[in-house]
Amino acid sequence: MFNELNLNKGLQASLKNLGFEQPTDVQAQAVPLALTNRDLLVSAQTGSGKTVAFLLPTIHRLLTVAEVPGAGTRVLILTPTRELARQIFKQSKLLTSNTPIETGLIIGGDEFKFQKALFRKNPEIIIATPGRLVEHLEKGSPDFKELEVLILDEADRMLDMGFTEDMLFINKFCKAERQTMLFSATLNQTGMNSIAKTMLNNPATISLNAKREQNEDIQQQIILSDDKDHKQKQLTWLLENQAFTKAMVFTNTRIAADRLCGFIRYKKMNAYALHGEISQTQRKKVMEEFRENKFDILIASDVAARGLDIKGIDLVINFDMPRNGDDYTHRIGRTGRAGEKGLAISLVMSSEWNVMSSIERYLKIIFERRSIKELKANFTGPKKLKNSGKAAGKKKKPKDAKAKVRNRPKKDASKRRPATKPMADRDASGLSTLKRKPKEQE
Ligand code: AMP
Repeated sequence: MFNELNLNKGLQASLKNLGFEQPTDVQAQAVPLALTNRDLLVSAQTGSGKTVAFLLPTIHRLLTVAEVPGAGTRVLILTPTRELARQIFKQSKLLTSNTPIETGLIIGGDEFKFQKALFRKNPEIIIATPGRLVEHLEKGSPDFKELEVLILDEADRMLDMGFTEDMLFINKFCKAERQTMLFSATLNQTGMNSIAKTMLNNPATISLNAKREQNEDIQQQIILSDDKDHKQKQLTWLLENQAFTKAMVFTNTRIAADRLCGFIRYKKMNAYALHGEISQTQRKKVMEEFRENKFDILIASDVAARGLDIKGIDLVINFDMPRNGDDYTHRIGRTGRAGEKGLAISLVMSSEWNVMSSIERYLKIIFERRSIKELKANFTGPKKLKNSGKAAGKKKKPKDAKAKVRNRPKKDASKRRPATKPMADRDASGLSTLKRKPKEQE
């Protein structure tokens, strides 16, 4: 129970108003440790209540430790996307509503001048996306010389999105003696060790989900499909026949999201699309209206939907199979949040079989096989399977193998142009997955 933690009274009142009585697992483990000012390295799934896990002890600290006179920002929270930053901002406002603590939001897309003024007002807590914060640091507005707590939220995503350099740059401006808490879906990510070594000091590690552990509140199914047209029919059937309050449908590209949204609306269903190309204002509006149940189907690409916390999403459909297990986990994590039940259905055509099977292996589960009686696919799975579960098939030899042998001298490697990434290596937004900062997210 939260009241056993001896938290500040104002904070306890906010928890009561929010209706939070029992800490979630991550809160039960992280809050008491964080209250001892230890650095923390926490692996916890989105939807586990991790935001409150880091906000509670931090706000309690602000209310109990006297501020250094003339200090600038006392708490900095870095998070990969604007939506996530807004969500944390909202939680922070709610939790501090009975206290004098102020929170400021610094994200791309909002007016720079206004944000500069916000730094002058000096709120105790700043929630920021890395790119925009770096711009401010370059212009000298923020003051982190007396920073007491640094929180890195969804650190794996920040690394994925190419923010490593920005994080290290920001770190240089922050007071070295401070508490640092890193939250991430996985701690095994490339680069995570080095970030943790540079930015944290002798952290206690809390491994909750380990990413591959499944959220048992989500039922996970696959339905075999023949092609995209067939998928559209199956999707229509599911949206018309499967009971749900709010559904999210994922595609791998923003163009596909728009097209599919057009199709669903043509079928007289209430859908909107959300992806990186949509203007900031429009995105905000779509999210708000989805939250307020003004429509019930959101078609999204991965990048746009990362970290979204919207209550009541009980159905996730992968119209396109995601390209890897991490994206799959993030997508289905939009449902089954905070103990609610959810259903995730992936439509799988033959070209997606192998990726589906490698996701099964990665997550160490077998998806439930389901079919729609009136829309059964001719594709019933590969004829032969390898031990890995992937399709077994001979590699086709070129008709005239000899003709393909090249006898040209090897090119000078230094003159070679760098290979361009094939489309398959681009993420859902169409951006290359090479370490590049997706500006639209900032
Ligand atoms: P998060 O993992 O931070 O995205 O949180 C997921 C959801 O859980 C949010 O909607 C929170 O408002 C909710 N939540 C957080 N802590 C609790 C709690 N102790 N009891 C009930 N719901 C919670």
